[in-house]
Amino acid sequence: RARAVTGPAPTPLDVLRTVFGYDSFRGDQAEIIDTVVRGGDALVLMPTGGGKSLCYQVPALVRPGTGVVVSPLIALMQDQVDALSALGVRAGFLNSTQDGVERRRVEGAFLAGELDLLYLAPERLRVPSTLDLLERGEISVFAIDEAHCVSQWGHDFRPEYLQLSLLHERWPQVPRIALTATATAATRAEIAQRLDLADARHFVASFDRPNIQYRIVPKDNPRAQLLELLRTEHAGDSGIVYCLSRASVETTAQHLSDHGIPALPYHAGLDRSVRAANQSRFLREDGLVMVATIAFGMGIDKPDVRFVAHLDLPKSVEGYYQETGRAGRDGLPATAWLAYGLQDVVQQRRMIDTSDGDAAHRRRLGAHLDAMLALCETVDCRRQQVLAYFGQDGGEPCGNCDTCLQPPESWDGLVPAQKLLSTVVRLERERGQRYGAGHLVDILLGKTTPRITQLGHASLSVFGIGTELSEAQWRGVVRQLLAQGLLAVDGDGYGTLRLSPTSAEVLSGARPVRLRREAAAAPRAPRSGRR
Ligand code: ADP
Ligand code: ZN
Repeated sequence: RARAVTGPAPTPLDVLRTVFGYDSFRGDQAEIIDTVVRGGDALVLMPTGGGKSLCYQVPALVRPGTGVVVSPLIALMQDQVDALSALGVRAGFLNSTQDGVERRRVEGAFLAGELDLLYLAPERLRVPSTLDLLERGEISVFAIDEAHCVSQWGHDFRPEYLQLSLLHERWPQVPRIALTATATAATRAEIAQRLDLADARHFVASFDRPNIQYRIVPKDNPRAQLLELLRTEHAGDSGIVYCLSRASVETTAQHLSDHGIPALPYHAGLDRSVRAANQSRFLREDGLVMVATIAFGMGIDKPDVRFVAHLDLPKSVEGYYQETGRAGRDGLPATAWLAYGLQDVVQQRRMIDTSDGDAAHRRRLGAHLDAMLALCETVDCRRQQVLAYFGQDGGEPCGNCDTCLQPPESWDGLVPAQKLLSTVVRLERERGQRYGAGHLVDILLGKTTPRITQLGHASLSVFGIGTELSEAQWRGVVRQLLAQGLLAVDGDGYGTLRLSPTSAEVLSGARPVRLRREAAAAPRAPRSGRR
């Protein structure tokens, strides 16, 4: 049994040492635990890997009763309970994956005072019998994990989280601790309000992960680029590769395997048993690459993940930060690498335009995407920009991101922007037609493709006016104009381009256009690529 049954209650430090086998608390852990042990509420913002679990596990072992942990990560509950049991902590969980026998066993243990920690899926609290069960036992603390799920502004909203304020109404004397790794100041305020944590102490750890090197590169041939990265910098390392679609997860995992890099796929379309097997192999074995959709990773605690690579653009800075945060939890150097291209912007704008939900919802998604694009296109330190996004002053440029290591040049893109925008205008005004980036670039380059011939576009006055740039450079121009909102994508599902409200200012020359010079599109800029 984990808790000393005789004598005075153990101190938090006793528990840390005897149960968890660690010497000392990290960062704010001691103060957070002290607050909760004394019966106060806490709101904890700590980056992934910061050590949030101990913040509620230790109070649960120090205070009398059972610590009740609300977590959306049902798939991880078994692992968490097993890990705790191995330390001698008496833990159980209640969620929809259990049968009645198992559930009654856990309920019985709780009522008998034989559980230190009880993990609960949030939807369990909708069931009146669960609330009655909790009434009949003794609760030491409520922990609300992944607390950002209560935020409708966030990227991970779960409606069941809204009802968690009832915990305070029914158990006003039980301390509560809400924890998250992703929260801007606005989300933090929303968590405090919705969970009724007005009097909670806020603990905001630094979100800086100095050992992670952030790099965002123009997408060219993403699988080849990935292979190059893994071979030159991460041979034999464990890592995670994120892809947007299940299909590209499968093909990318196959591609890596074909090239001698052991890789496993993970996405929601795979059989549950396959997912579980792949996940546990990734955790146990060295040097495996997990190719996954974002369904993979929440709550995964593998300290030596050396790289996180994104082959598609994350939908928000929160998502990007959370996913890249799975790298380098052991504090050793790690790489966060993202390949990003024109198609990402077109695709995501389209997904937003065609998404369910009201206009406000789409505006929200659009704002998340814009912040992510600004991070991709910045010529300043990436780390400063991420930290600023989370409301923290990033201090000096970090010296450990691509823009610091190799400051990008910017160039005056006004004339190319005007050429592109006037091509859009010509086609629309003169022909009543709209096209995607590929065709527009063909026109600018003066290519006589079958489509150009068929449509008679060689007779346009803008035909061939853009030969000073290469095709790749033009695609970079289109992407950056889209990212800056100086050009827009139709919601028609074809990625056709149209003017944005600010395009006119560019056309009239009233608005300067600064563009980032790109390594892939401008070979004369040196590429380092080493960490
Ligand atoms: P989070 O939930 O914030 O992502 P975890 O609680 O999973 O982070 O902790 C991350 C890792 O750090 C775990 O392996 C954990 O055991 C370890 N850890 C946490 N606190 C300490 C500490 N005080 N001393 C040593 N290791 C710690
Ligand atoms: Zn930097």
